[in-house]
Amino acid sequence: MAADQHATDELGELMMDRSYVVPWGTRGAVLADAEAAALVDLVHDDVPLSLGNRRDCFERAFAALVGSKHAISVTSGTVALELAIQMLDLEPGDEVIATPQTYQATVQPLLDYDVRVRFCDIDPATLNIDPSALEALITPRTRALLLVHYGGCPAEMDAIMALARRHDFLVLEDCAHALGADYRGRTPGALADIATFSFQNAKNITTLGEGGMITCSRGDWAERLDRLRSNETDAEIAPTYPSDVVEPIVLPWMKYSASVYTDAVRRVRHAGTNATLSEAAAAVGLTQLGRLGAVSEARRAIAGRLDEVVNRYPFMSPQSAPPHSAHAYHLYTCFADRQELRDQLVLALDRRGVEIQLRYFPQHLLPEWRHRGHAYGECPVAERMWFEQHLNLPCNPRLKQSQVAYLVDALDESLAELNGSPSLPLRVSSTVTCEK
Ligand SMILES: *Cc1c(COP(=O)(O)O)cnc(C)c1O
Repeated sequence: MAADQHATDELGELMMDRSYVVPWGTRGAVLADAEAAALVDLVHDDVPLSLGNRRDCFERAFAALVGSKHAISVTSGTVALELAIQMLDLEPGDEVIATPQTYQATVQPLLDYDVRVRFCDIDPATLNIDPSALEALITPRTRALLLVHYGGCPAEMDAIMALARRHDFLVLEDCAHALGADYRGRTPGALADIATFSFQNAKNITTLGEGGMITCSRGDWAERLDRLRSNETDAEIAPTYPSDVVEPIVLPWMKYSASVYTDAVRRVRHAGTNATLSEAAAAVGLTQLGRLGAVSEARRAIAGRLDEVVNRYPFMSPQSAPPHSAHAYHLYTCFADRQELRDQLVLALDRRGVEIQLRYFPQHLLPEWRHRGHAYGECPVAERMWFEQHLNLPCNPRLKQSQVAYLVDALDESLAELNGSPSLPLRVSSTVTCEK
């Protein structure tokens, strides 16, 4: 027992020590002198460090970039989702359709609502919501659809929005991966009713490690969101004060407060929170927007080289964006046509010092959703792709040219090895867990 424990500890240490030739990457974004200068400016400027002009500038620039009327910054992509989902005004008994192939933050807030969630299966070529699977899940109670542009590959929004308009439900785009993507000449973040972004450390641009944004075109939502992130109540206020209430004094800085101190509140929807993005984060975010074109190009260049290799092998295929669209390559994803090959490829790359990821475990099989009755078999394509076929390779603009060259060669050699000797021994590894 004690000896076993010792061996496990030693293995743990070895795995911790392990350094990859091509690591997944400690950061997703490129930061350099311009970001440092933006912070130095802020330190030397005699301005507030919260609720200042830098946040306004960042939001205006972001809205313009996305082509959305409003951009409301918050402290993370998760908070952006929580607040954006509040705008959907979900009522008990409503149904919400959601993608199972995303990071858990997309759908987690729904656990706090008394709604029925239907996970919609995905397109195996993109890992995005499959519009043809979507139609069958729509009922008269369908209130909203939550989707993600997986890895930065735009979802088929034309078909999806046509269904949403025909059946009168709202659509939320989780654009955490999609900054820098293009969908038939338009930008994710302005393709549906409301959208959320993340500027967390791993994402294509960052606001110093944590941060998020919500975009929408509805002015009433923008106002509600602004209240919610500023510790103000999201309430319906009567347009006139009841006669028994003395009108409070209104000072210029009292953007919203005056009316809620009266009795003229018809309904409180949600209490607020403080999700104010700091001026330091906003200053860096604004600078990062200036890099977006270059970092997107750098990601696409690496992806292009990986695609070339993948396309040489008939048992492999790359994830590809819809026609007339551009992928942002937050994640580079490719597919093997069966599990044995996928698993062997993961191990062959790992042995060569390339760090592989499998993102994301199907949401409906996480404990919180199983507990609500969701089960294996609900989304067969999403399950097959994660358990058997897909893998994510490093695709990061911070990789050195020599690392990209190594990655391309390692992929080619690994695939050639699988092609030539399909009986490559499969070693048990903690990298791939395929229990069902
Ligand atoms: C990162 C991410 C989020 C959450 O963003 P945070 O800023 O980390 O809270 C939500 N959805 C997806 C798809 C993500 O990748």
